[in-house]
Amino acid sequence: MRRTRNAKIVATLGPASSDRDTVRRLFLAGVDVFRLNFSHGSADDHRARFAILRELEKETGRPIGILADLQGPKLRVGTFSEGSVMLTEGQAFRLDLDPAPGNAQRAGLPHPEIFAALVPGAELLLDDGRLRLVVERCGSDFAETRVAVGGKLSERKGVNVPGVVLPLTALTAKDRRDLALALELGADWIALSFVQRPEDVAEARELIGDRAAIVSKLEKPSAVERLDEIVALSDAVMVARGDLGVELPAERVPAIQKRIVRSCRRLGRPVIVATQMLESMVDSPVPTRAEASDVATAIYDGADAVMLSAESASGKFPVEAVTMMNRIIEQVEGDPQYRQLIDASHTSARPGGDVAEAVCCAMRRAVSLLQAAAIVCYTSSGHTSLRAARERPECPVLSLTPNLAAARRLALAWGVHSVHIPDVTDVNQVAEVACDIARREHFAQAGQTIVTIAGMPFGTPGTTNLMRIATV
Ligand code: PGA
Ligand code: MN
Repeated sequence: MRRTRNAKIVATLGPASSDRDTVRRLFLAGVDVFRLNFSHGSADDHRARFAILRELEKETGRPIGILADLQGPKLRVGTFSEGSVMLTEGQAFRLDLDPAPGNAQRAGLPHPEIFAALVPGAELLLDDGRLRLVVERCGSDFAETRVAVGGKLSERKGVNVPGVVLPLTALTAKDRRDLALALELGADWIALSFVQRPEDVAEARELIGDRAAIVSKLEKPSAVERLDEIVALSDAVMVARGDLGVELPAERVPAIQKRIVRSCRRLGRPVIVATQMLESMVDSPVPTRAEASDVATAIYDGADAVMLSAESASGKFPVEAVTMMNRIIEQVEGDPQYRQLIDASHTSARPGGDVAEAVCCAMRRAVSLLQAAAIVCYTSSGHTSLRAARERPECPVLSLTPNLAAARRLALAWGVHSVHIPDVTDVNQVAEVACDIARREHFAQAGQTIVTIAGMPFGTPGTTNLMRIATV
């Protein structure tokens, strides 16, 4: 079974989509990577989803990527004696560390780190940015604010502090427990929420080691300021437009999305465009034209993947949403302008690159000149296939690996179709095995050309140094 598109689909599992049959239908409709959102659900929920996904993988023979998304340092206000309060523009409102239920004059904010970092003039956004407070005076355990935009505030609503780098670790105590579970279950990707600085990624890497790959979610202005450093330290990146659009005005999100995608493509890291892509499909079997256009834009920009959140996790039409996403991607990739736009936004490797880069550049040229049917990559770590995908070549990348973990991770990468194979050790077998598998997986027919790249000696990551052209 093969997909007939390059860009990938990530879909979040939730109450609307966690039974065996729905998961199966989602996969058949086009999901390449399943996201488990650790902000919701119990350990048993996640355990059950893992079991279903790994069974499905066995049944279909296709490596499936599983992304465990950690909640991160999500900040929330405390409780109110009445459950909620009305705040009016211009009124004073105090926040402090007192756990007593709040009222229209004050509320608890159980995060000493926020008070430590606040300065007069700083803004606090509440409830997805619906309410806005401006700090007038503050100390180590309180902030006196003025309500700039009022409204109803319910207890436990989220708090964003956009302009300030908070002295918070990227992983809370809950995240550490969730991470332990995700690694025990065998997650392929771990997503870090609210990454603020490169050190956050390094800290997570220290804990995770090589047991899973890391997706940094870009949803803080401070992370965008150090974009290239964070991208370089991460294995993949998510444009997390939900919180990004709270921390920054919505009109700034499109340009930042394009900047992030460009940075990731240049540095060869898979990039996921996420949140509200087909939002209206939570309640409707068809998307708005604007949503279809939003998905298309991400594909024209060359993103590796587009993501569904509530649409697949809790919406009424999870399978329809995946089907629609699949169709939009196929339409875009079939448009002659698509190739022009992808090529125009491609950055070639610069002088001073390594052998792997040279091989991949040659591969890109060869594929184009020979109108090759497929690229076949032999990879142990997945590095060669990722490097090939970075070229956004004109034909699909068939990635052969004895490493099932690498095959699963590559489910996120643009244009890569992984096949888990036994180790190939004899260099003389490279072309023959590549031709056989390309034919078997329906990537090439007899008489067509394939371009094979590999690293010798086999099994040594990062040694891409061989290109072999063969006729099937
Ligand atoms: P979330 O992340 O759904 O975990 O908040 C995505 C986003 O903020 O866009
Ligand atoms: Mn978020």
